[in-house]
Amino acid sequence: MAAQLLTPRMLHIFGDESSHKGKHKFLVYGTVSCDRSMVPKIREEIEKAKKGKSLEWHWSESKYPELYPGLVDTIFKCRDNFGLRFRCLVVNTRHTRHKEYSDDDPDLGLEKYIHLHLMTYANDQKAKAQFFVQLDERTPKYRAEAQKRALNAADRRDNLRTYDLFADAIDVRSHTSPLVQVADVLSGAVAYVTNERYLLSDASPRKKALAERIAKLANIPIVGHAKELGVRRGELRSLAFATNPRVTPDFIIWHLHLRAEEEKVLRALSAEQLSRYSPDATYADLQRDGYRIVVECARCDHSISDYLSARPHNGIKLVSSKPTRCGKCGRRGIVHLKASHFHRTRSERNA
Ligand SMILES: [Zn+2]
Repeated sequence: MAAQLLTPRMLHIFGDESSHKGKHKFLVYGTVSCDRSMVPKIREEIEKAKKGKSLEWHWSESKYPELYPGLVDTIFKCRDNFGLRFRCLVVNTRHTRHKEYSDDDPDLGLEKYIHLHLMTYANDQKAKAQFFVQLDERTPKYRAEAQKRALNAADRRDNLRTYDLFADAIDVRSHTSPLVQVADVLSGAVAYVTNERYLLSDASPRKKALAERIAKLANIPIVGHAKELGVRRGELRSLAFATNPRVTPDFIIWHLHLRAEEEKVLRALSAEQLSRYSPDATYADLQRDGYRIVVECARCDHSISDYLSARPHNGIKLVSSKPTRCGKCGRRGIVHLKASHFHRTRSERNA
């Protein structure tokens, strides 16, 4: 006990991003972490999974594909036996307004997400500790050293710590760090599922099977909106939803909502527009009043621009009833009204 009090926790964190470049909708930044004493054991296990072959583990790599199921099993064995943990941040890249917030620089945007992500470790850490961070090298423009300074400043400010929690942060080439490679594989799987790559006509059955294996072993309890959509524990799609960090602290998926303010404004508009009608008014009544009904999901930009044309049988739906759920994320859509073309021409005619 005394030794535990004297020795601060030394946590090692290894990070890598997925789908930062290219036309992917969702970017994933993921890290794996473990206590210092476990690093050699975990490295040894990951090395063993190579079965003597020379390779780097990567989600997008196809060298020795037959070894990857074994690697996935090893990762979760290390979770169970050596306290290896994973957490990631998922960002809808269409909501990132780099022009306004990051000097039109997606690389700077990524640095901000890495910062936010690593701060979650700091915010969770109450007892005395030191963090040692290895980040997969990104661009020469942004270095881990600068990230470390910013993290320590934010941690001193937000968590009132009086020393530098982030003792070390370095940029590494992934080939030198098997644990960065593990972060790559897990982040890659989350990005693959969240971006629905498995639904593409040229989707690789091998990748899908690998993501399925990860989902099965992660075994995330289904909560919130995923439950509404009928997602089952251990199935592939469970990787596409935010997890409850208190329930599964060893496998955390966090979705950053960049449009929270805009969503608030849209909800207020919706409430104001619908409050003009009595609760027993129907969608068809709104349409007769010259409105087009828009149902929109603020999270995944899924929107139906003319709800009654798409679902004519819903004309009997009451204004006071709950809006339909988004088929992608399971959240209730936000209903708002636009003056229809018909309405405009009629007013113009009257004018
Ligand atoms: Zn949605």
